Amino acid sequence: MIIVGLTGGIGSGKTTVAKLFGNYSIPVYIADAEAKRLMNSSEQIKQELIELFGNNAYLNDELNKPFIADKIFNDKAYLDNMNAIIHPKVKIHFEQWIKEQNSPYVIKEVAIIFEHQQQSKYDLIITVIADKEKRLERVLSRDKTTPEKVFAIMSNQIDDIEKAQLSDFVILNNDMGTLENQIHKIHKSILQQCRNTSN
Ligand code: ATP
Repeated sequence: MIIVGLTGGIGSGKTTVAKLFGNYSIPVYIADAEAKRLMNSSEQIKQELIELFGNNAYLNDELNKPFIADKIFNDKAYLDNMNAIIHPKVKIHFEQWIKEQNSPYVIKEVAIIFEHQQQSKYDLIITVIADKEKRLERVLSRDKTTPEKVFAIMSNQIDDIEKAQLSDFVILNNDMGTLENQIHKIHKSILQQCRNTSN
């Protein structure tokens, strides 16, 4: 089965695009959402996060997101250590999930592919790009955050031009107008590549 990585900077519209691929009955795996779910459901992850961050990591048995976001924002080593706990578990979960799918291709949405040199894990990569001002505006209206925090995340991500050059497909998501049309074309092209590989 062909694995298509879907990536893009913060607020570019990855999840919005992923859901539109779902309209073509393409199975979509949202790595961030699965990671968040596992952080609340896996006893092993809970234990390891409490060892890393202390007892405040969970509040009433729920991940204490503001506390952890604050720790990560102030010390990148926390983010690296947290990723080292969570990424291997998400990887195992994805490998299990993919065995249950019956489709010519699947989409895996991951914010960070190029930043972690994970390109070789995917047969094809789609990058969603959008103007920085639009991305900032979207994140500020979606999340309780500040422009400084959004800019800090942006500065840790590879910029759109470089990502686009490294990708098989690029989706420009400055407005919703042409989004479905772009996705339709890419879907058809991927299906064609799936047919070519199975011949
Ligand atoms: P993140 O990396 O922060 O998780 P993302 O790349 O997955 O973000 P989305 O969650 O899809 O981005 O989009 C961010 C916000 O912008 C959402 O509230 C979404 O509804 C909105 N949005 C996405 N695309 C558009 C668009 N073309 N026009 C207007 N709003 C949009």
